[in-house]
Amino acid sequence: MAEQTVANGVVSNGRNGPNDPSELPIIVIGSGASLRLSPSQAGIKCTVFEKQPSQARERDWNMGLHWGAPVLKGLMPDEWWSQIQSIQVDSHVPTKDEDTLSFIHGTTGETMAAFTFGPFYRLRRSKLRALLSQDLDIQYNKSLSDISYAADGSSVTAHFADGTSATGKMLVGADGARSTTRKCLLGPDHGAIHRIPYAATFVQRKFPTEKALYLRRFHPLYLAAAHPKNHFAFFGMQDAAIADDPSSWTFFYYISWRSSLEEQDATTNWTGAQRLAQQKEFAKTFCDPWKSAFEWTPDDQPVWYLGLTDWDPGAEGHQWDNRGGLVTMVGDAVHPMTYQRGQGLNHSITDAGKLRDTIVKIVEGGYRKELVDGFEKEMIERGGEEVRSGTANTEMLHDWEKVMQSPFFKKGLKSNLK
Ligand SMILES: Cc1cc2nc3c(=O)[nH]c(=O)nc-3n(C[C@H](O)[C@H](O)[C@H](O)COP(=O)(O)OP(=O)(O)OC[C@H]3O[C@@H](n4cnc5c(N)ncnc54)[C@H](O)[C@@H]3O)c2cc1C
Repeated sequence: MAEQTVANGVVSNGRNGPNDPSELPIIVIGSGASLRLSPSQAGIKCTVFEKQPSQARERDWNMGLHWGAPVLKGLMPDEWWSQIQSIQVDSHVPTKDEDTLSFIHGTTGETMAAFTFGPFYRLRRSKLRALLSQDLDIQYNKSLSDISYAADGSSVTAHFADGTSATGKMLVGADGARSTTRKCLLGPDHGAIHRIPYAATFVQRKFPTEKALYLRRFHPLYLAAAHPKNHFAFFGMQDAAIADDPSSWTFFYYISWRSSLEEQDATTNWTGAQRLAQQKEFAKTFCDPWKSAFEWTPDDQPVWYLGLTDWDPGAEGHQWDNRGGLVTMVGDAVHPMTYQRGQGLNHSITDAGKLRDTIVKIVEGGYRKELVDGFEKEMIERGGEEVRSGTANTEMLHDWEKVMQSPFFKKGLKSNLK
């Protein structure tokens, strides 16, 4: 295979790597939320390779950052952290010390449970990535296709779909739920994402002023519902662009449902219009804000559909060889989980923080294999536990009997009736 050099002028004319490994960068695959290993702060040379042509081409959604916030703060200069307010779904509403996430009954609108915690940041993915990317060397249009290792274990080479390659002293797969790094390390079967029988269709839309004001009355930022027909639903802000112009606000909403893998396969070629028509049908038996929001959504509104997935790094057959610490993974690449518990970003950021500390110790002369093994052990235990809890929670939220038996919801309903 004829290959050429790509990264930082690092010479890579084949699979054996350059001559001086200590000068090589850390290679990060994927410019998602996990990319931030804080190279400038820790003096670590780092090059990121992203398969998309630019960040603007990526889908946008929003994510709750809570227990991961202190780690994220530690991964960026203070002046960046002071911008955290500006990357929230509504940058005009100051983050409270404590906030409440309410679960309501999907048909009656009665509050079933609510938990209070904080501070709770609701961040836009696109803006978070833009903030985290600021001083990074990111090369776009670079889709990882293979990984090879120097015979002496001193370097690792990423090979990209366009025939180029880049050599580094370590490779970090941060390439999301459908990670190619994972498939390279474990093979196409063990490394493949695990499909589960749940699906969701997401909508982002603005409404005329009166309708936007009505929809936002239910909660200024986010609201969730469980529905007796085994559906789960979320409604919240994606972007409150101009505080005093409700017609500029973009809402983010979806209904998820139990969808067998057979159904997922049979509907794989459905158009967006078909997906939206299905959501509209579900929404007919929902209370507001879902019922009205879907009624007011035009039939040709673009939507995106997702069959839910997970991958448990603690499961049998999922143990990879990190080649003496030359290669590892972080974030959704290593513990893709369902999103209803709102934990994925918090774990991804935590991985980045812990890996940064690990790399600093290696740079200071620590034994690479031992340090990376230790890093992975903690991440696999923590992330694996969360993957399993996340899927169990998804199963519960789409099973009305289980919702009604859940101590969390029972307690909420009882205190409501007082
Ligand atoms: C609807 C939804 C709601 C969510 N809500 C929450 C929440 O409230 N709280 C929470 O903590 N988490 C939430 N999450 C989860 C959270 O978004 C993820 O855990 C987090 O984004 C993972 O970050 P990452 O960097 O690991 O992966 P990603 O953000 O997916 O980034 C991976 C990057 O790798 C790139 N890539 C992929 N393959 C290749 C390749 N072969 N070569 C090069 N680049 C590649 C991709 O283009 C992408 O840019 C939610 C997720 C969804 C979908």
